[in-house]
Amino acid sequence: MLSSLGTKSVAVRTPDDLAGIDAIILPGGESTTISMLLESSEIFGSLNQMIGEGLPVLGTCAGMILLANEVSDGRRDQKSFEAIDISVRRNSFGRQIASFESDLKVKGLEESFRAVFIRAPGVEKVGDSVEILATVDSDEQTGVPVLCRSGPILVSSFHPELTADSRIHQIFLSLIK
Ligand code: GLN
Repeated sequence: MLSSLGTKSVAVRTPDDLAGIDAIILPGGESTTISMLLESSEIFGSLNQMIGEGLPVLGTCAGMILLANEVSDGRRDQKSFEAIDISVRRNSFGRQIASFESDLKVKGLEESFRAVFIRAPGVEKVGDSVEILATVDSDEQTGVPVLCRSGPILVSSFHPELTADSRIHQIFLSLIK
């Protein structure tokens, strides 16, 4: 997705890979596992500092969980960068089998965005510093925030990389100075 937008990217696997990056994407996957790997690779500390100093971050799904100020239904030892004032509940839309797609109305985009949700986290609380860019209606609740921004931190409950539509990535790239 990034190269289709003319942006060079590197895979970050060691603390040295952080040198020279202008922004980072924390992808989907399993936030508990990513948290453990961030620690065992010794990336967590340096990255935490860079995020604190204003590094733009896109967190998708598990990545959203890793950036949230508060996490419910996580592992007790699961770590977060606490970079955006939201409370999220892991797997709040249900299990793998309850994965779904939805056409979202996204603030700033003319046409709707087809969003893919896979064991997605649900945002249960949002602080004043957070702008809600899109919501979805769940079985239990209407208007659950699924795309939120706070300064250079952009988080989505869904996977914007799983369609051919690059507009969420373009929003993210616009946050990089
Ligand atoms: N349920 C996963 C977690 O808690 C996130 C799923 C995903 O990234 N698609 O980390």
